[in-house]
Amino acid sequence: MSISEATTVPAMLADKAALGTHPAIVDGDTVIGYADLHERVRGVARAYLAQGIEPGDRIGLWAPNRHEFILAMLGAQYAGIAVVPLNTRYTGHEAAEILSRSRATAVVLADGFLGKSYSRSLRSATADGSGDGTVVPGLPHLRAVIALDDAEDEGVLSWSEFLDAGSSVDAATLDRAAAAVVPDDVMDVLFTSGTTGVPKGVLTAHRQTLAVSRAWALGADLTEADRYAIVNPFFHGFGYKAGMISSLMAGATIYPVPVFDATALLELIQSARITVLPGVPTIFTSLLDHPRLRDYDLSSLRFSVAGATAAPATLFHDMVNILGFRTVAQAYGLTECVVATMSRHGESLEHAAQTTGPAVAGMEIRVVDESGVDAGVDADGEILLRGDSVMLGYFEDEAATAAVVDEDGWFHTGDVGQLDEHGCLKITDRLKDMYIVGGFNVYPAEIENVLRKHPAVNESAVIGVDDERLGTVGRAYVLLLHNADPRPDAAELEAFCRRHLANFKVPREFVFVEDFPRNAPGKILKSELRTHA
Ligand code: AMP
Repeated sequence: MSISEATTVPAMLADKAALGTHPAIVDGDTVIGYADLHERVRGVARAYLAQGIEPGDRIGLWAPNRHEFILAMLGAQYAGIAVVPLNTRYTGHEAAEILSRSRATAVVLADGFLGKSYSRSLRSATADGSGDGTVVPGLPHLRAVIALDDAEDEGVLSWSEFLDAGSSVDAATLDRAAAAVVPDDVMDVLFTSGTTGVPKGVLTAHRQTLAVSRAWALGADLTEADRYAIVNPFFHGFGYKAGMISSLMAGATIYPVPVFDATALLELIQSARITVLPGVPTIFTSLLDHPRLRDYDLSSLRFSVAGATAAPATLFHDMVNILGFRTVAQAYGLTECVVATMSRHGESLEHAAQTTGPAVAGMEIRVVDESGVDAGVDADGEILLRGDSVMLGYFEDEAATAAVVDEDGWFHTGDVGQLDEHGCLKITDRLKDMYIVGGFNVYPAEIENVLRKHPAVNESAVIGVDDERLGTVGRAYVLLLHNADPRPDAAELEAFCRRHLANFKVPREFVFVEDFPRNAPGKILKSELRTHA
């Protein structure tokens, strides 16, 4: 069966139910086949309707990667309810703020992840709200709190209580709700703040999420034979759209990975014969740096995308030559348009390492200079995107939408890149990470790529810091490989950079660190490095 062409979640699930017992999800001992998935999702959809959650509502979903996340998400979308996934690292205050702004009518959460109780942190964050008889005081729109684990607190429904109550809704009501879902209905609202600022809710329709997922599945050549380990968080576009939905559209099997642990992941790859494993570069550098890497059989690995942030060029070679992937590709996108480009089939490793590929079907790309004129081949400029998959807009924020989407429909990404003669996009850096030394633009990603080539360096992050004479100079934070021997000092790294980079790009300072502040997908938070600089 080929990759689904469906443009709504109910149509996609009905389509794939024909795969019968073929596993859609394997989560520890839980195996859910495609026909069963369809039935279970219908059960969850009924349960939302039984709580009085209506098509057109929004619900929050605050949980790590596990099979119930998938059921809770698709169940809502099946009934025309949009999902607002919440970052698992959020505090109660941050989650409450987003639930309040999106006027979510229910929240499904996992208690006990990373030792936290999300329901309690939500209640304590809103404790000063009026005790007005609502489920969570201070969140008046919230009608139901559903816990995936045991519900210990009053007013919180356990997952099984929630599902049981669904039987009060008859099948005809459910069928009507599913049939009313159209491709233009909002499917999800992903809150993003980039790395700074107040989070904005990105609105995406069913047809758009399914189109980017399909583009990714096509680029990855996903088939029913694939076993896809999803380490990228389900609450983020990479784990959700390029992960969960792509896998389902292709009839592949999802292995949700709740927290990244290199040893556990190597064991999973070996025992489940994982074929597809995309991730942020740090996942692969950690696997490569694992002291017992050679003890594992990784021969099943077929396809990877090391993306979502600048990937060191040497990493691609190591992923093929040491980890054994047959193909390593790149893709470029952002929450506002999750898959904009992807490497071409049969691309050389050299080219795939350097560019993120051409625009996927239905998308156009331009790279423009400060005055909005096309920058020309191989010249830096801001990346603009236009096409079917660019978000509908930011949730109830016309001004913020108008600030990034111009009158001609071009979305201004805030990323700097280049188009090569094949129309393949190379990401230079984020506009806001660029800094200027003595009048010259410096793109930290270029310096980080050079540092990665040093045999003792695992990862680095370069930022601009104030300097009396030059205005700004570079500072590199460096994480060495655990077994680096000898361990270089700052002078050696500086000399190494000097051999590869123009003088103005060489960082003035090198700071050795044990780890970096990171967001949940594993990207380094440069904003935090800057705050503490
Ligand atoms: P997010 O909205 O969290 O998905 O973050 C999107 C940002 O990740 C983009 O604006 C880029 O700065 C960065 N990004 C995405 N894909 C790539 C890539 N292939 N290479 C480098 N940076 C990337």
